[in-house]
Amino acid sequence: DPRLQAISNAITVVPHFPKQGIMFQDITTLLLDHKAFKHTVDIFVERYKDMDISVVAGVEARGFMFGPAIALAIGAKFVPLRKPKKLPGEVIAEAYELEYGSDCLEMHVGAVEAGERAIVIDDLVATGGTLSAAIRLLERVGARVVECGCVIGLREVKGQRRLNGKPLYILVEPR
Ligand code: 5GP
Repeated sequence: DPRLQAISNAITVVPHFPKQGIMFQDITTLLLDHKAFKHTVDIFVERYKDMDISVVAGVEARGFMFGPAIALAIGAKFVPLRKPKKLPGEVIAEAYELEYGSDCLEMHVGAVEAGERAIVIDDLVATGGTLSAAIRLLERVGARVVECGCVIGLREVKGQRRLNGKPLYILVEPR
């Protein structure tokens, strides 16, 4: 797909952000490039439009930048999976491990019903810890996680193409 090269080209690598040694993949330049941004959303929409998906769950914060556009185009609801203490209603929470310490994602109770077919969207998958927590949240309420979709995935993860037994769909490798 020739669109993938344009998407990759629009991502900027920022060395040593947020700390020494990290090659940060900055997707804000992808958002500035209308064509590349549209290609990104279009590819996900083409993949998911006929899969009977009723839930697009987006991971804070960069999953919020792609998920809603995909949800609107495929006729699904958008469900934000947020960092702790951001959602005002009753929530369920799932913790996940980080390189140093742990973090947590929360989802509103009642946002997703048992039996709904869901996808999880984020910008980047590295260890898969964040997506695993997202999958657990959705499965706890009885949803079926059909796939996780990410713009960027590390080579190893991209090769593996599965996460907690769930299919993983990745557009490009880190630059
Ligand atoms: P994982 O849980 O798979 O190890 O890490 C993925 C999470 O970390 C995603 O939510 C993603 O937004 C964030 N992340 C880690 N490194 C980068 C990076 O280099 N660029 C961007 N855009 N996000 C990153």
